[in-house]
Amino acid sequence: MIIDSIQNGIVIDHITAGKAMELYRILGLDKLDCTVAILKNVASSKLGRKDIIKIDREMDLDWDLIGYVDPTITVNCIRNGQLVEKRTLKLPERITGVLTCKNPRCITSVEQELPQEFVLTDPARRVYRCRYCETQSK
Ligand code: ZN
Repeated sequence: MIIDSIQNGIVIDHITAGKAMELYRILGLDKLDCTVAILKNVASSKLGRKDIIKIDREMDLDWDLIGYVDPTITVNCIRNGQLVEKRTLKLPERITGVLTCKNPRCITSVEQELPQEFVLTDPARRVYRCRYCETQSK
């Protein structure tokens, strides 16, 4: 498989092997009309194996969302064939609209228009709790 090097676009690198498809779905990359390349199980000196996603276009990404899926990721922004920005990610303090509260008595289960908001309560174990009832996300 040959992947052209990108002139203008984004390379999402150091994705934990096996997580590229989850990221692809959660970021809605299937809705893009430009070229998106997913490389799986690439040899990496840092991670052993990693996944990479290349997007052949500049676009805004939800950094919190990427950091939530996988905080080891680095994102490279490329313009005119040059690396113009390299971003490392971390777990976001709070995340909205991704996790849903499983507590049937939670106010977000009753009032569907409320945003599902979760707060990071234990960074080491990646624990998020519902902002309203403190139920753990998983
Ligand atoms: Zn809740």
